[in-house]
Amino acid sequence: MIMNKPTTDAPIVSGPLTRHVTRQVAVRYQDREIVIGGSAPVVVQSMTNTDTADAIGTAIQVKDLARAGSEMVRITVNNPEAAAAVPAIREQLDRMGVDVPLVGDFHYNGHKLLNDFPECAKALSKYRINPGNVGQGAKRDTQFAQMIEAACRYEKPVRIGVNWGSLDQALLARIMDENARRSQPWDAQAVMYEALVTSAIENAQRAEELGLRGDRIILSCKVSGVQDLIAVYRELARRCDYPLHLGLTEAGMGSKGIVASTAALAVLLQEGIGDTIRISLTPEPGGDRTREVVVAQEILQTMGLRKFAPMVIACPGCGRTTSTVFQDLADKIQTYLRDQMPVWKKQYPGVENMNVAVMGCIVNGPGESKHANIGISLPGTGESPAAPVFVDGEKKVTLRGERIAEEFQAIVLDYVKTRYGKEKAAV
Ligand code: SF4
Repeated sequence: MIMNKPTTDAPIVSGPLTRHVTRQVAVRYQDREIVIGGSAPVVVQSMTNTDTADAIGTAIQVKDLARAGSEMVRITVNNPEAAAAVPAIREQLDRMGVDVPLVGDFHYNGHKLLNDFPECAKALSKYRINPGNVGQGAKRDTQFAQMIEAACRYEKPVRIGVNWGSLDQALLARIMDENARRSQPWDAQAVMYEALVTSAIENAQRAEELGLRGDRIILSCKVSGVQDLIAVYRELARRCDYPLHLGLTEAGMGSKGIVASTAALAVLLQEGIGDTIRISLTPEPGGDRTREVVVAQEILQTMGLRKFAPMVIACPGCGRTTSTVFQDLADKIQTYLRDQMPVWKKQYPGVENMNVAVMGCIVNGPGESKHANIGISLPGTGESPAAPVFVDGEKKVTLRGERIAEEFQAIVLDYVKTRYGKEKAAV
C-alpha cells in the first residue's frame, strides 16, 4: 500500500525521544563541576593507557585527552605504585592548568589501595568499582563495603561498573538456579542479561544501605555485542533512575570499533538512554589515544545532541572529481577547525555552531555551500578552474590557483572573528 499524504495532522518531527529520567550526579574538581544525569548534556569521558605509576607520562596523556574534549578522564589504579602516583599526576595537571576530574578504576585491590593511600583517594574525583572484581566468598561483601566507605568518607561519587567479562560468578550461579526453577526456563542469553542488570542494581542498593547517597551513584553494564548492549541498557533504564554510563566494551580497532560503538550508542541515545559515554577503541599501533574522544564527540554532534566543534560538510567525491584537491582541502579544514577549538571555544563563543561545506563540483557544490555558514565549491573534472566561496548564502569571492586552501582558511578565520568574536560588535 502507498499513501502519498500525511497519516495524521501532526508534522514530521526529528530528534531524540524523551530522555530517560535519572537522578543527577555531580563530579567535582576544585571549581569544575561535571553534572551527569537529569537534564544535563551527555558527558564525554575517556581512559588513559599509560602506566599510572609513570606520573608524568600519564599526566601528559590526560592533558591531551582533556584538550581533545574529554570532560572526565579515567586512569587505572591497579597497584601501590599507581596509587602513590595519583597525587603527583593531579599536581602535574594543576601545574599545566588542566582541571579535568580524574576517575580511578579499581579491580581486586581497590579496598586496600583506597585505605592505604588516602591522598590518592582524595585526589580522585570519582571511583569506578567493578562488583565482579571486589573479592570472592565472605571477603566480597567486606571489601565492597570498604570501598563504599572510602567514597562516603571522601564524598566521592562512584560508578558501579558491571562488565560481562568479569561478572560476579556467585550472583550468576544464583540467577541460574532461580532460572532452573521457572516452569519455562529462559535461554542462556536472557539469564546473562538478567545477571548483568541484577548485579548493577543490587550493588547500587547495597551501596546506599552502606550510606552512599543515591545522587552519588552511576551505573554501567558493559558488553561487547551491539544487540546485547541495547537489550541490557533498555532493561536497566526501565528498572532504575541512576544515571547510566554507556559504552560498548572491547569495541575493537579502526572502523569496526567506531561503527559498532556508534550503532549501539545511537540507538540508546535516540531512546533517551545514556548520560555519559566512553568509546572503547583499541588504538592502532602508534595511533592517537584522543581518537576515542573525537569519536564520542562526533556521535553526539552528528545526532544533534551536543555541539563541540564546527561541522565540516564534505561530499564523498565521485567520477566528477578525479583529483584529490577537494579531499586534501576537506581534511585540512577539518583538522584546522578541531585544532583551533581549545582556544576558539573561549575566544569565540558559539563557533561550535558553524557549518563549513567543502564540495567537489558544481552538481551539489553551490547549493550545499549556500546552506552552510561558509562553503567552497571546487572545480570538478573539465570545469573551469575556479572555486566560488559562499558566505551566509551569498557568493563572496572566487578563488583560483595553487593557494586555494590557505586563502579559504583565511576566509574561515576572518568569518569566525567577525561572527563570534569581539569584532562582531563592529559589524
Ligand atoms: S558534489 Fe560533485 S563531486 Fe561531489 S559527489 Fe556530488 S557530483 Fe560528485
